[in-house]
Amino acid sequence: MPDTSGNDRYLTDADPTALPPLPPEFQVPDLPLAENEPDPDRPIIRTVPHPEPLTPRGVLIVCPACSAQRDWLLLNVGEQVFVRCRCAHEWAERRLTRSDFDDSFSHIERIYPDFEVAMKAMGYDGVLKGLYFN
Ligand SMILES: [Zn+2]
Repeated sequence: MPDTSGNDRYLTDADPTALPPLPPEFQVPDLPLAENEPDPDRPIIRTVPHPEPLTPRGVLIVCPACSAQRDWLLLNVGEQVFVRCRCAHEWAERRLTRSDFDDSFSHIERIYPDFEVAMKAMGYDGVLKGLYFN
């Protein structure tokens, strides 16, 4: 049977569009993947990169381990805010509030299966110590 769509394509028995639908046991449900669902037993850690220097209350934040002054990852757990450096040093920063974090955070872009995978994927596992991308 000729294709009437205007191109020179013809349907044959080998054409995938001519195959019958898959039986129900082979169909994939339209559900989100289980690994993308947050584990209710683990705390939710939100993160947002902060490339610029941080100066809460007028004091420049400096990494006590490597002396970096910018290119931070901010982490929020509950009401606490943590600062993480490219050298993987991380500390609770009491001069930053959850409100400060929320000002930088816009929306969820990705959910990681665990903390270590997230730090590696975002480049805050220590491998990029001393490097700046801007
Ligand atoms: Zn550091």
